[in-house]
Order: sequence, then structure tokens, then C-alpha cells
Amino acid sequence: MNITANNPLLKSWVSIPENSDFPIQNLPFGIFSTHSENNKRVGVAIGNKVIDIYQLASFGYLNDLEFTASDFEQDFLNPMMLKGKVATRNLRNRISELFEISNTELQNNNEHIQQILFDQNECTMHLPVKIGDYTDFYSSEQHAFNVGCMFRDPDNALLPNWKHIPVGYHGRASSIVASGTPFRRPKGQQKPNAEEPPVFGPCKLLDFELEMAFITFEGKELGEQISTKEADDYIFGMCLFNDWSARDLQKWEYVPLGPFLAKNFVSHISPWIVTLDALEPFRTNGPVQDPKVFPYLEYEGDKHIDIKLEVSIQPENSKETVVTKSNYKHMYWNMNQQLAHHSINGCNIKCGDTMASGTISGPEEGSFGSMLEISWAGSKSVAMADGSERKFIQDNDTVIMRGFAEKDGIRVGFGEVNAKVLPAN
Ligand code: CA
Repeated sequence: MNITANNPLLKSWVSIPENSDFPIQNLPFGIFSTHSENNKRVGVAIGNKVIDIYQLASFGYLNDLEFTASDFEQDFLNPMMLKGKVATRNLRNRISELFEISNTELQNNNEHIQQILFDQNECTMHLPVKIGDYTDFYSSEQHAFNVGCMFRDPDNALLPNWKHIPVGYHGRASSIVASGTPFRRPKGQQKPNAEEPPVFGPCKLLDFELEMAFITFEGKELGEQISTKEADDYIFGMCLFNDWSARDLQKWEYVPLGPFLAKNFVSHISPWIVTLDALEPFRTNGPVQDPKVFPYLEYEGDKHIDIKLEVSIQPENSKETVVTKSNYKHMYWNMNQQLAHHSINGCNIKCGDTMASGTISGPEEGSFGSMLEISWAGSKSVAMADGSERKFIQDNDTVIMRGFAEKDGIRVGFGEVNAKVLPAN
């Protein structure tokens, strides 16, 4: 089926600022409200504008599609996503058609435009998806290697299962919040000194994890599998994901069952879900997987995606400093393999499940995806623009992640996910 909305030649009658993340080839989905009207509804970003999809449907512009206007007057994208891949692809194609420069259906109706197009700065963005289950993978080889070196043994940094299994764990959905939601530094048990008993108090080694997440459509029945070949049809789209981590809590608690309170106090996602369709032009090949993987993890074609990522730290009342630049293409395991692995035992995937990549670290210094790695467990500092230094994240720091894919002059971006750390209470 043709993804007509991806045509690089398309231009919109809405003006698109240079270097915008949201040209007509993107059209990501989110949930917004305006400052004048409280009700939440589905929006699509274009340039500096938000398209009100509920109003678009109410005025009859989406009549030939599988949706009713009420599917878009919702607190979350889930009712829209429940219609599946084909319906949401047709929806994006139709929005593209309406906003294409030669189409006059809406372009010539100023009265409708007033009620359909809003400036992004008059809108509040909300958590886009009602997340049922959250799974966090651990699929960047460099990250797993770096952590293995620091937490265990440099000579055996990767555990024996790592290149056979897309390792993951079940996280907690309740504490995943919208970008811009401030949070308190977590408290918990730590054991800073091997010879002394554990201590309790505010986390001292607060860290971000640079990740991306994919959001699923409704999967299959319990007991069924999703193959690597079918996986694309079960993935709605992707967002930026900051999986905050308390390293001192993590080190003390993680044996034998893995992370718990070090990871579930908060995670932030970016407001716009970029569809997997919009990312298709940016596919790229992944690493050679050696040893050979089991047949259920084999895949055909380019299933990795070239998405440039960066993280900044902004101290209070100060400029931001970029502390790392990485790329989603550095993943060892791709989403198709993750989803195939997740369901190989019959585990059922639901609409709105969120699956994070794990920290995305590139192969060299300067591209690591966490302060744990950037400061190499606190052994070196990063200079900030204001003259201060960081090994981990301090109170009142804001951490900002950005990402975009770019090819042949078309840039499909994610905007940003940001969050400010408040002192522990
Ligand atoms: Ca993580």
C-alpha cells in the first residue's frame, strides 16, 4: 500500500520554518488542548501549527475514512490507534492531501482554518497514549558493554545471553508522564561503601537514559506470536523517551531480579508520536549479528532507522550544554526483533503498549547515552556553559532530548522531551 504522504516533493500551503521537525512529510500525532479550550483532542503537527483533527472530522473533511469525529475528541490516541495500521495510514495520507499546496478544499475556507489550525505556542501538549504495559529493552551493545565494565567485569562485560536474546524487563506504566512535567529527586536505599551498611536518603547519582520508544497497535490473542516480518504492522510510531535512573539505588537493588525503584519513579516521553510510516524513508541496515540468531529473530531488509539524537543539560537560569550526540541506528537489536522476541512465548501485546529501546550509546566517547557512561561512573566531569560541572544531574537542572531523521533535504523530527529535577521532599 502506497504511503503517499511520504512523497519528498510535497509542499504545504502552511508555511514551514527552515529546519522544522514537522514538514508535511512528517504529520505526527499527539493530544493537545488550547489555552482557551480545555477539552483534549487529537492533533497533528505541521510547521509551527497544530491541526485539530477532531474539528477536521467534524467539518466533514475525513468522511471517507474509517473514523468518526468522536474518535478524535479523546484524552488519548488509543481509540484512533485501535483502528489499526491501514486506517491510520489512510488518515495520514488524507491529512497530507488536504494540506498539500495544490489542494484548495480547506485552503480556501478561512472560517474553517480559524477553527482547525492553532499556533503550537497556544496549545498544551499532553501524554499522548494511555500506556497499558511498559517494556524496557537493553539493546545497545555499547551501552551494555559500558555498564558491564563499570558494574561487573571489563573482561566479561557482555553477559553470555546478550547476543542471543534481546534482553528486556517489564517496567511500570503509571509513572510515564508528558514532557515538561517536573519531578522530585527520588529517595531510597544506597550502599556507597562496600564495607559499611546501606544508607537511606535522596539519590545522589541521578541520571538520564537517552532512549526511543515504539508504541504498538492492538496485537494478537494470548498464545500467538508476531513475527519479525509482521512486526511493522503492529507498530504505530515512535517517540523520544527519557528513562530516568537512580544509579546508586540501582547498584544496591538490582541483584538478582533487576531494576526496580531505581527506574520506576518517572520516565518522560515526547508529545508527538511520529508514525513508523513517516520513518520508512530513513531505514538503514543494522550490525552483522554474530553469533547467528535463532530463526525467529532473523529478519529481511533494512529494519534499523537513522535518527540523530542529542541530550542537553540546562542548569537553572542558564544556557543549555549539549552533553552527547548519538543515533538510533546504533541499536544491535531492531524493533522487529524486539517485538518478535516479546511475543515468542505467547505474551500478548495491547494497543498503547510502550517499548523502550534501552539507552542508546554510540561506539565512541561523545555519543554515550547516560551520565553514568559520560562521566564513567563519576570519574570525570562535563563542563557546562555557565562554568559549573556535572557528573550526574543536579537539582533544578532541566534535561532536554531532541531527535530527527534527515535525508534528501527532508527532515522528520520528534521535537523534544524535557524535564526539570526538583529537590527531594
Ligand atoms: Ca532504560
